[in-house]
Amino acid sequence: MTVATGARRAASPALERYEAVIGIEVHCQPKTASKLFCRCRADYDGAPPNSLVCPVCLGLPGVLPVLNRRAVEHVLRVGLAIGATIPAVTRWDRKNYFYPDLPKGYQISQYQIPLAADGRLVVETSEGPLTVRIRRAHLEEDTAKLVHADLDGRAVSLVDFNRSGAPLMEIVTEPDIRTAEGARRYAEELQLLLRTIGASDADMERGQLRVEANVSVRPRGSTELGTRIEIKNMNSFRSVERAIAHEIERQVAALEAGEPLRQETRGWDENRGLTYVMRVKESEDDYRYFPEPDLPPLRIDPAWLEAIRTELPELPAARRARYRDVLGLPPADAAVIVGDLEATALFETLLAAGSPPKAAANWVTGEYLRHRKGGSVPAERLAPARLGPELARLIALVEAGRLTLANAKAILAAHLEGGEAVETLAAGYERIDDAAAIERIVDEVLAANPAAVADVRSGKDQAVRFLVGQVMKATRGQANAARAEAAIRSRLGQADGAQGPTGPAAADQGPTDPAAADPGAEPSP
Ligand code: ADP
Ligand code: MG
Ligand code: ZN
Repeated sequence: MTVATGARRAASPALERYEAVIGIEVHCQPKTASKLFCRCRADYDGAPPNSLVCPVCLGLPGVLPVLNRRAVEHVLRVGLAIGATIPAVTRWDRKNYFYPDLPKGYQISQYQIPLAADGRLVVETSEGPLTVRIRRAHLEEDTAKLVHADLDGRAVSLVDFNRSGAPLMEIVTEPDIRTAEGARRYAEELQLLLRTIGASDADMERGQLRVEANVSVRPRGSTELGTRIEIKNMNSFRSVERAIAHEIERQVAALEAGEPLRQETRGWDENRGLTYVMRVKESEDDYRYFPEPDLPPLRIDPAWLEAIRTELPELPAARRARYRDVLGLPPADAAVIVGDLEATALFETLLAAGSPPKAAANWVTGEYLRHRKGGSVPAERLAPARLGPELARLIALVEAGRLTLANAKAILAAHLEGGEAVETLAAGYERIDDAAAIERIVDEVLAANPAAVADVRSGKDQAVRFLVGQVMKATRGQANAARAEAAIRSRLGQADGAQGPTGPAAADQGPTDPAAADPGAEPSP
């Protein structure tokens, strides 16, 4: 087992002597229409600089903040989903500091009494389940954005206030994580939870989810905490894992070399694969927190909290367990479906339409995700509400034995490409089971392939496969492959009980897979 990552890399003996301790701070944008204390639009992504501003979020004198109820609701939703304690009364605190991205000179935040405290999230890792205690989740306002630019050869710093005053949720864990993989998995599971409950879109690339990691190392067996280093600028889950793994190795190497570690903030350089010093913490920041005089304490109405609790959807962990334990899906399939909200919605639509869970799961984790990732299908055709009923009909046709699996896949592809109804497309693909019809085609194929017939007669059994392939080709994959094979063998005097319709060739995906027999076969309407 390696200290650094869950990845298969050989750990150095020094790494083995240390244990990493990791705590994660996540900032995420709650999904609201307006900012936290004013009516400006909160979705600033892509808007022209300084187009979403007003006296409140510009910090002009004489204005008063008015709290956004929906932002509070989202934090409460998160609090309930992680089993946190919600205080009956909370309040706002002023965090004072000077920086050009903070026009008021203070940020309205929560210090003493967060909206949610003492929750937990259980995540699956390659080493088993990991329980991460969540110390707190609170609400605060975001800062403006500094843009460092080149203006006619002059290096300038510009300020875009569109983000100023947008709501921000901060979620802080206890230092419970021990591996880089565990940290990545925690961040991924938190993103899934936020999306599932609708609290945030939590898109890392769009800055809606920002992950910071606090990392320290200590000799194995020690219970004291080592000097922690904070890592910023990790823009993907992969960077979270890489940055932490690198940082653990760096710290162990430093300690082994007798160099003391300083408490500092380091940035992750994705291209060079290393962390660099951003700033050294010489003393504790003094934010001179005090209760925000412009906002009254916030009382959480128990009835409101109860209503939010009642409306919470099924959470990812419970859903995975249900798919595994009640529907009997393999754990890997359950994880793939639950990890993707669109896949989950499609799967649920199929279940509601009566598709058998196993078959539905195969189609979702297989063909559906393959087509979606292929990127060439228009998004609206993949929408669960639209695709679900069509796919359910297709699955029913396969279940009823009226379509081969390979042809069902071709029909789905045709449906996604041209939008025609599955039922219309399937009409041209019904499986041919009729013995007389199959024999007629077999006779034609045998007559057209004398060399293969001679091969079979001289004992070359693989020639049977070739002939079955020709039958499938002639029927565009519609023939019942097992029956075709039986008919060929009986015509050529090779009849053999073991090769009947229930023999190995009966498998839909076997060597007589029509797609394999004729990769060029195009579905036609
Ligand atoms: P701050 O007040 O500076 O934000 P906190 O004590 O609140 O610091 O901790 C911030 C994060 O760092 C938390 O997620 C916490 O679990 C984590 N943390 C604290 N001490 C350590 C440590 N020695 N090693 C690793 N993580 C730590
Ligand atoms: Mg902090
Ligand atoms: Zn505003």
